[in-house]
Amino acid sequence: MPGEPVGDIVGRLRAAGCVYAEQEAELLISAAGGAAGGAAELARMVERRIAGLPLEHVLGWAEFCGIRVAVEPGVFVPRRRTELMVDQAAELLGAVESGGEAIVADLCCGSGAIGMVLATRMDRLELHAADLDPAAVRCARRNIADVGGRVYEGDLFEPLPDRLRGRIDVLIANTPYVPTEKIALMPAEARLHEPRVALDGGADGLDAQRRVAAAAPYWLTPGGHVLVETGEDQAVVAVDMFGRNGLLTRVVGSDELGATVVIGRLPLDGSR
Ligand code: GLN
Repeated sequence: MPGEPVGDIVGRLRAAGCVYAEQEAELLISAAGGAAGGAAELARMVERRIAGLPLEHVLGWAEFCGIRVAVEPGVFVPRRRTELMVDQAAELLGAVESGGEAIVADLCCGSGAIGMVLATRMDRLELHAADLDPAAVRCARRNIADVGGRVYEGDLFEPLPDRLRGRIDVLIANTPYVPTEKIALMPAEARLHEPRVALDGGADGLDAQRRVAAAAPYWLTPGGHVLVETGEDQAVVAVDMFGRNGLLTRVVGSDELGATVVIGRLPLDGSR
C-alpha cells in the first residue's frame, strides 16, 4: 500500500507507548487494506491509536475465544481473562440434559461476546442477552444476529421476558466489578474510552453482583447455574452473598489468565 512506510508506523506506535507495536502495525495495515480508503484510512487509524484509543476500537473488532467480535467505540472491550467464564459456562451447558434447547442469559453483555461464543460453540442454545447501555445493545445485536439470539436493553433482569423465570439453565453476568476508588488506577484505555457503567461496581465493586445473586434464584431452573467474574480478593465476598441467597457455590481460578469466576448452583429441589 502506498503511503507511510511500515517502519515509521511501528516507530510512531512504539513512541506512543504501544508495547506490541509490530503486531499492532500489521493489524492496522491489514484492516485498512480491506477498507475503501486505503492509505488515508490507515493514516486515520494510526492517529486514533496514537491518541490512545484501545486497539480494538480502532480496528472495530476484538479477538475473543478465537473468534472476531465486533467492538464499537464506547463499548467495553472483551477481556482475554473472561475466556475462563466462557469455558466454565460451556462445560455446564454440555452437561445440561434438556429435551429442547438450553436457555442461556448473558446479562451486562456489552458487545455480546460471551453469548456469541457460546452460541457458536454449542448446537442447541436459546440465547438472551441484555445490557443497560444502548451503545452496547447496538453492538451486541450486530454480533448476535448471525448466531441467533435476542438482545434486550435494560437493567440486569428487568428487560428479560417473564417466561424465562425459573427456566434459565446458565446465567452469565460479567458485571462491572471495579471498586469505585480503583477506577483511577485503571489503564487510560479503559478509563477514558470504556463506559464507566461497564467498570464501576460501587464501593467494593460488587454492587451489581449483589443484585444478581439476590434475583438469580428466581430466574434459574432447579440445578441451573449463575456465573460471575470477580477480582481474586473479591471472590470470598461473592461466595458469601451467593450462599446467603441459597446457591451452592464454588470458585474457579486461572493463574494463566489472571481470572476468577464464582459459580452458584440453584439446588435441584429449587428451594429459593
Ligand atoms: N478488572 C476488569 C478488567 O478491566 C474489570 C472488568 C469489569 O469491571 N467489567 O479487566
